Amino acid sequence: MSELNPKLHDIYDEVLRRNPGEAEFHQAVFEVLSSLGPVVTKHPEYVNSAVIRRMCEPERQIIFRVPWLDDNGDVQINRGFRVEFNSALGPYKGGLRFHPSVYLGIVKFLGFEQIFKNSLTGLPIGGGKGGSDFDPKGRSDNEIMRFCQSFMTELYRHLGEYTDVPAGDIGVGGREIGYLFGQYKRITNRYESGVLTGKGLSWGGSQVRTEATGYGAVYFADEILKTTKDSFEGKRAVVSGSGNVAIYAIEKIHQLGGTVVAASDSSGYIVDEKGIDLELLKEIKEVKRERIEAYAKARGGATQFVSDGSIWDVPCQIAIPSATQNELDGDHAAALARNGCKIVAEGANMPCTPDAVKLFSEAGVTVAPGKAANAGGVATSGLEMQQNASRDSWSFEYTEQRLAAIMQSIHHRCLVTADEYGAPGNYVLGANIAGFIQVADAMTALGLI
Ligand code: NDP
Repeated sequence: MSELNPKLHDIYDEVLRRNPGEAEFHQAVFEVLSSLGPVVTKHPEYVNSAVIRRMCEPERQIIFRVPWLDDNGDVQINRGFRVEFNSALGPYKGGLRFHPSVYLGIVKFLGFEQIFKNSLTGLPIGGGKGGSDFDPKGRSDNEIMRFCQSFMTELYRHLGEYTDVPAGDIGVGGREIGYLFGQYKRITNRYESGVLTGKGLSWGGSQVRTEATGYGAVYFADEILKTTKDSFEGKRAVVSGSGNVAIYAIEKIHQLGGTVVAASDSSGYIVDEKGIDLELLKEIKEVKRERIEAYAKARGGATQFVSDGSIWDVPCQIAIPSATQNELDGDHAAALARNGCKIVAEGANMPCTPDAVKLFSEAGVTVAPGKAANAGGVATSGLEMQQNASRDSWSFEYTEQRLAAIMQSIHHRCLVTADEYGAPGNYVLGANIAGFIQVADAMTALGLI
């Protein structure tokens, strides 16, 4: 507790007491609270009006049974979640995660982060998150469809374009959003495009949504480089994961003249000194849905697949962790710093442990926190909602310009706020404070909510 301002101890104690066993949620709350010391010193009213306490308690938490039939005709049962965390700025907005590790603590951590991330985008969207402990790996298309239909059969009653607007996350991409939207449309008899984002381009989706999170994280890193008149040109990078965020982070780094030499999945990582062949990686991951070892086999040459060990041992100047929470710990951070890494932009949510963040700070490595660096995904979801509301669709170029402008603006807000609160260059503090103040002020304006 030593890093918390004494005015915030009780709030954190209450979170621990109310949410036992939810380690990831505790970690996410602690991370935000530990940035708010200078804010509550300057503005004690945020503590006195209990706005911070209220922000730590979700507005609504929904847990439900998801029964479905597998291809053998056997009944399977999963658990579904939606945590509607904060709607002070707009309808709840945040993705759905399908992964066996999902439980209430993961959904709450993600929902809590989402409040501040969505605030940073400057768009009128509140924070929420959902998902299920369903494991899509090895399931047929039909099984995925039946699961999604059953999931939506309960969830639909809580959604609406002005109420709660989910999108994808780990294990939920365009295919799943399609099945979910189809079931929503069927039950409600409404073609309500604005109820889900990440839709297909031919039925209400937005250009650049698929690319947005990865592209956005790289734009953010590029803004950091620009502060020292540097660029991606000639830089060596490592991107963990090989899913939606990772693939498009790699694509944008290559477009900007950098080289990504390593990527991973939960079975291991590949090292390709010539630079990842993105078309091959997309084919293996997006089309064939194979394990990453298949990349090394197909690429041949000196490309290596490593099943034990850490991708963070691969030397690089820029690291973009884009797989999952707490994937990069203190030891990994030490290895990265020792090997000359200068910038870590979090493509995933909370991929760096608190130890890692501390070590980076001591070693002079700049950390762009996920709630700022990966906000491009939800920002483009916000742009998808705008297009749906006006029955319009924008070009790829125009949408990408909007995304780039939003990422620049988030970067600027983080920097200016960090300066204002006496921590120049500290993007973690800048993002937490800037995101917090906007939501706190909106909650205050709306009365006791
Ligand atoms: P995907 O499901 O498309 O890809 C996830 C990737 O991470 C896969 O390569 C997966 O490997 C790997 N991975 C997942 N869990 C683990 C683990 N425990 N250990 C090692 N590797 C793992 O998800 P996304 O790319 O959409 O999401 C990645 C991260 O980015 C998440 O933290 C998500 O919350 C965050 N994010 C996503 C956004 C989006 O728009 N999609 C927006 C903002 C943040 P495997 O297939 O083997 O499991």
